[in-house]
Amino acid sequence: MNILAWNTPPNTAQLWAADGSDLVICLADKQLPDWSDCVILSSALACVQFAGANVLKNILPNKTLWLMPVHTATQLHDYFGSRDIHWQTKPIPQHHVLPEKNWFRQPEKNHQQPEHVIVIGAGIAGAATARELAARGVHVTVLDAANAPASAASGNRQGLLYAKISPHPTPQTELLLCGYGYAKRLLKNTLSESNNWQETGVLHLNHNTSETQRNTQLAQHVWHQHLYHGVSASQASELAGVLVEQDGLFWPQGAWVNPPAWVAKLLDNPLIQLKLNHHVLSAQFDGNNWQIHTQNGQFSGSHVVFCGGASSQNLPIIQDLPLQFIRGQTSIAKTQSNSGSLKVALSGASYVSPAWDGIHCFGATFLPNDAHDDWRESDEIANRQALKDLNNNIYQSVDFSGSLKGHAAVRCDAHDHLPVVGALGEPNLMRKVYAKLALDKNYRLDTPCPFYPNAFVNTAHGSRGLTTAPICAAYIAALICDEPLVLSKNLQHALNPNRLIIRQIVRGLN
Ligand SMILES: Cc1cc2nc3c(=O)[nH]c(=O)nc-3n(C[C@H](O)[C@H](O)[C@H](O)COP(=O)(O)OP(=O)(O)OC[C@H]3O[C@@H](n4cnc5c(N)ncnc54)[C@H](O)[C@@H]3O)c2cc1C
Repeated sequence: MNILAWNTPPNTAQLWAADGSDLVICLADKQLPDWSDCVILSSALACVQFAGANVLKNILPNKTLWLMPVHTATQLHDYFGSRDIHWQTKPIPQHHVLPEKNWFRQPEKNHQQPEHVIVIGAGIAGAATARELAARGVHVTVLDAANAPASAASGNRQGLLYAKISPHPTPQTELLLCGYGYAKRLLKNTLSESNNWQETGVLHLNHNTSETQRNTQLAQHVWHQHLYHGVSASQASELAGVLVEQDGLFWPQGAWVNPPAWVAKLLDNPLIQLKLNHHVLSAQFDGNNWQIHTQNGQFSGSHVVFCGGASSQNLPIIQDLPLQFIRGQTSIAKTQSNSGSLKVALSGASYVSPAWDGIHCFGATFLPNDAHDDWRESDEIANRQALKDLNNNIYQSVDFSGSLKGHAAVRCDAHDHLPVVGALGEPNLMRKVYAKLALDKNYRLDTPCPFYPNAFVNTAHGSRGLTTAPICAAYIAALICDEPLVLSKNLQHALNPNRLIIRQIVRGLN
């Protein structure tokens, strides 16, 4: 691995000629590089943001471009650890590495390439994880209990890919903005020629006072105007092709996608073996490998990644993670003349997508602490009312006749609404080793975290898994393959699964 770095963007000729596997470029002053003389490089800048690292793969052959806002360029060890970085310009001074809590440290690396990874779950999280591993030459077996991939939360007809962010620099906003660009590039790469998605843009409407405030503040982020910008109701109507009564925030590169088609494409790789109708019953480490048992067979792998979504509570090893479950149902209905001309996805308290093959998708219901995925008439009625509130013109013109049914599923979430991603500590051992935190949460404890060997999780993507799961998958694959990590230290800690166990210990819960 040869990491080259620049304190300001080099020109396109320098980039093409650079002899490195990873090219790190500092973006000072929240400005995009001027690479207008190269279509490949300039179009790669479309979703670049200034909240966190932009990791651009497959743009230049055998190279990864790291476009780093200045606050990340001073912390390159977050991403590259102690690897040598060869500065092509005067180096950017690096901040000191701060001490980490032991439960946030990465487990000791065995520096061996993984032989075979078992991924449990074939939703967007599992499929993206498998694809990232396969791209690194690793053989993967994906096990799913259902008889088709993307049958659970990822089974919606049309999901929206955009980032519902705060105007302030929260971990959620950093993850969503980094994840949005990553997911969009992956989508373009994997489903390029397909009609199973469309970059129509997403219009987020000022549907109440707090959204109006939030969107107004976001519209002032001039450095992100290529990603999102404010629009008046009349501009919104022009963009949407139907009368829209509120102002809002427009995400021109936002897209709708059919998640099952995306998942199928991600899994379509000679190094990935998909095993359906395999409900995982147990997982044991035999000293060398993980032995995974399903009702239909046994599978062995050097590493295991749990991507079970809302069924995590029934999965071995991770069933004790304190997760939350939120039921949701979307609805579908045929277009009629006016609704058919909807050109962008509208989002507010609910959403409606442009028609795909003559059918709109809208919803979704949001029922916390309900882990049932049965289709319900009450949710259908709620979705119709929400569509009426979102845009009465579309509501009046869709055709609700017939018996089209949307998709009901359960979202998996954590208490802080951040995904749960990383290497898994052993909860029972952690409870013993870190018991004193129940007396004083700041108690200094030097004992290394007891980790399960080679066991990882990528789940709890809540309501935004299409945006967050792919970058988290890249993070997990990089951890497994001992490569530079795509998330800042801040995010590595914020998503770490051990935070949930430590929180329980601190609160005296078992
Ligand atoms: C109604 C609704 C609308 C949504 N709309 C959007 C949207 O517009 N945009 C967006 O970004 N996100 C949206 N989301 C959220 C998004 O769909 C989820 O965050 C995402 O699908 C989660 O993916 P996942 O892979 O983690 O879980 P899932 O897709 O649920 O996949 C988990 C998989 O694990 C398998 N599994 C579980 N237990 C076992 C076991 N024991 N053995 C084997 N296999 C097992 C399951 O069969 C399943 O296939 C929506 C969610 C819902 C419910």
